[in-house]
Parts: sequence; structure tokens; C-alpha cells
Amino acid sequence: MKEYKQKIIAIIGGGASGIFASLRCAEIAKEKNIDINIKVFEASSKFLKKVRISGGGRCNVTHNIFEVNDFCLNYPRGRKELLSPFQKFQAADTVEWFKQRGVKLKHENDGRMFPISDSSETIISCFMEEAEKYGIQLLNKKNVKNINKLENGKLSLSINDSETFITDSVLIATGSMPKGYELAKNLGHSITEIAPSLFTFKITDTILENLPGTSFSNAALTLKIYGERSFYEKGPLLITHWGLSGPALLKLSAWAAREMMHTNYKAKIIVNWLGLERQDDVEKLLATIKNSNTKTNIGKAYPKELTKRFWHQLLIKCEIQKEINWSEVSKNQLNRILNNLFKCELEVIGKSRFKEEFVECGGVDLKEINFKTMESKVCPGLYFSGEVIDIDGITGGFNFQSAWTAGWIAGSHMPFNSN
Ligand SMILES: Cc1cc2nc3c(=O)[nH]c(=O)nc-3n(C[C@H](O)[C@H](O)[C@H](O)COP(=O)(O)OP(=O)(O)OC[C@H]3O[C@@H](n4cnc5c(N)ncnc54)[C@H](O)[C@@H]3O)c2cc1C
Repeated sequence: MKEYKQKIIAIIGGGASGIFASLRCAEIAKEKNIDINIKVFEASSKFLKKVRISGGGRCNVTHNIFEVNDFCLNYPRGRKELLSPFQKFQAADTVEWFKQRGVKLKHENDGRMFPISDSSETIISCFMEEAEKYGIQLLNKKNVKNINKLENGKLSLSINDSETFITDSVLIATGSMPKGYELAKNLGHSITEIAPSLFTFKITDTILENLPGTSFSNAALTLKIYGERSFYEKGPLLITHWGLSGPALLKLSAWAAREMMHTNYKAKIIVNWLGLERQDDVEKLLATIKNSNTKTNIGKAYPKELTKRFWHQLLIKCEIQKEINWSEVSKNQLNRILNNLFKCELEVIGKSRFKEEFVECGGVDLKEINFKTMESKVCPGLYFSGEVIDIDGITGGFNFQSAWTAGWIAGSHMPFNSN
């Protein structure tokens, strides 16, 4: 007589990736008629905490790039490894997944996708209703303190120091919590260097004084980190109370996350405010303004892409009186303007948190995960998804997409694990 066996699945972490994995797990088990018991252990009292606060409370669910190769370009770490997972579940699938459950997503001009309600509660309610429909057990205040491998291949979880739970398959989806890295390490995994990503730069310089809120639509940025390599990024830039922010700068912080940590966030950033490709182009632009405004104050005629307040601040940095006429501007003064417009050197003296979205880079070593299943290559029956893995994206919905994708793949395979 065949032994009746119910599959028991434990998911550690009731965040974005863990919950999404649990739903996929339940869905595929139903489809294949597998008797399954899915438990999600969440250390805190609330599920989906980051989803709730994400995107300023609107939840930037994904990004509307539906070509997988292009999508992968937005991951400073994990770009190569995500190619095959995205071929199975990518941004277009996320859009469809939510649509089938009555949640429509819209995209903004920069490609970021949000629920049309503009509220992260829509996403949370959708997940919660689905979990209830499938009878997934969502257990809060269950802090998983340890995982032990048993001789029969099963995994034993110690919860809150008082409970033990034995299971066939475990998914670690603990985000960037140090405990998750420790659990993985204890089961034989290596953890790569952890560093904050998506941060803004602290800079004190005359050119930025009294200008918070001033933005540039297409600035070109070169980051030179002492003793490390240089990084380049182009796009919108914003002056803040403490230095620089905006999409281009946040991307730069993601590309250079580890190198910046190594130098304690000291670096030099060279800003080309107008984003013109060649110095010649800026020279020509200044010559045109000079020639057609000879009798005008230099403070009144300036490149139309810049604000008057920024231009005046630039003149202060160049030590040029804004009251002089363009015809009085010397060659040396013109050169100072050119340099500060095209290659303005600023000292980065530290970092600040970006409130909208921040992540950690680093985590479980990519070489130790089978990206076809998200199963550990070191410990059978153990799976990973979300930020606990050494994968992180730039700002714009890429971090959630990798969390959904890895969760979906782990969830698709865990019911078939043969322990
Ligand atoms: C303010 C903010 C806004 C953001 N906005 C966006 C956005 O708009 N778009 C985007 O793409 N990304 C955004 N992100 C990043 C995104 O939230 C994360 O990349 C994503 O949540 C990672 O999902 P995860 O499931 O791996 O981790 P999490 O969502 O962090 O979930 C991990 C869960 O595991 C639990 N846990 C940890 N250890 C244990 C344990 N030992 N036992 C039990 N439970 C445990 C934690 O309590 C937590 O609930 C934002 C991040 C922040 C901080």
C-alpha cells in the first residue's frame, strides 16, 4: 500500500518574495493535485512591511521593460544569473499575474509601474486574499532562529527558542535581515560582502548652496573613487539640502555600492550639468549666448536648460559678478564657466539614505544557487529568494521584480522536492 504523504513547506520571511513564493507553491500544488501544507514564518507582527511603505506608499511593483536582456541591464549584481529566471517569469508576467487577480498596473513616463489605485494596500490585499483562498498558513511573531539538517534529509527549524518544525523544503526569504544570512551560513553557504545600495551623496560646495529642489533633466556623472575604478551614469539629477540625489545619482550609488563603502563614501564626482557629449558643444553654446547678448548682464542670459538661481550660484563659484555684461567676460572667466558647466568637480564626503527605496547589496553567493529552481547547491531542500541573495537592482521596480521572479521559481519547484 502506498504511504500517504502530505508535502510540508516552510517559508521563512513574510515579505515580498516569501509571500509570492507561497502563492505560486499553492497554485502549482493545486494544479498538480499535490497535497501540501505551506507555512510562512514571519518574525515580526506584520506581513509585507516593505511592500506597504514601498514607492512612497504607492508600491513600484515592476518596470515596463519587457525585453529580458534589457531588463537585466538594471542589476549591478545578478545581471547574468537573472537571465534564465526572467525567461520564465518577467515584468510582463507580473503585469499579467496581477491583472488576472483584478489588479491593473499603469506605467509612468520613466517606466516605473504602479497599481492604478496608487496604493500599496491594493497589492497587499490581493496577496492576502490569495493566501486565504489557498489556505496558506501565515504565522506571525515566529522568529526562525536556526535550521538543522537531519539525517533523513529533512530540515528542522527552531522557532522562538521554544518550537521545532520539521519539513521537506525550506525557502529562506528573509530580505536583508542579518539573521537570514546567518541561517544560510550555518547550512554551509558563503555570504558575499554586504553594503548599502541606493543612497544619495553628501556634498558641501558653493555651487549647491541654497538650491535644494533644483533639477537637471539629463546630467552626465562620472564618479572617481580613490584607488578604485570610475563609474559613469547619465540622467535626471537633483540638488538636495545635503548634496545630490535623483535617478542618475542613485543608479551610480548602486553600481559603485561596494567601492564607495571601501573608501567610507569619500570620492570625487564630476558633473556635466547639461549632459552635452563634448566640451566643444558647451563652448559653442556659451559663444552663441555671449555673441547674441553682448549688452546684457551675464546674470540674465544663460543656457535655457538651467535655472536662473543655479546660474547665479555657478557665477559665484566662478567668482564672476553677475552684473557685468557678456561683452566684458574675459577668456579666463569664460573658461571657468566652461569648466564648471562641463566638468564640475565636487568632493563626496559621505552618504545619506534615499527614503523612497533602499536595499542592501550582497548576500548568498550566486555560485551556490541553482537558478533553474532557486535550490541551494550546498544543501538539498533549501531554497532562496529575494534580497537575501547577492542580487540587487537599481531604483525603479527592479528589486521587487527579482523578488517576485525568484519567489515564483522557488514556489514552482518546492512541491516537487523529493526529500
Ligand atoms: C522604504 C523602501 C521602499 C522601497 N520601495 C521599493 C519599490 O517601490 N520598488 C522596488 O522594486 N523595491 C522597493 N524597495 C526594495 C524592496 O522592498 C525589497 O527589495 C523587497 O522587499 C525584498 O523582498 P524580500 O522578500 O527579499 O524581503 P522583505 O520584503 O524585506 O521581507 C523579508 C521578511 O523576512 C522577515 N524575516 C527576516 N528574518 C526572519 C527570521 N529569522 N524569521 C522569520 N522572519 C524573518 C522580515 O521580518 C521581513 O518581513 C523598497 C525598500 C525600502 C526599504
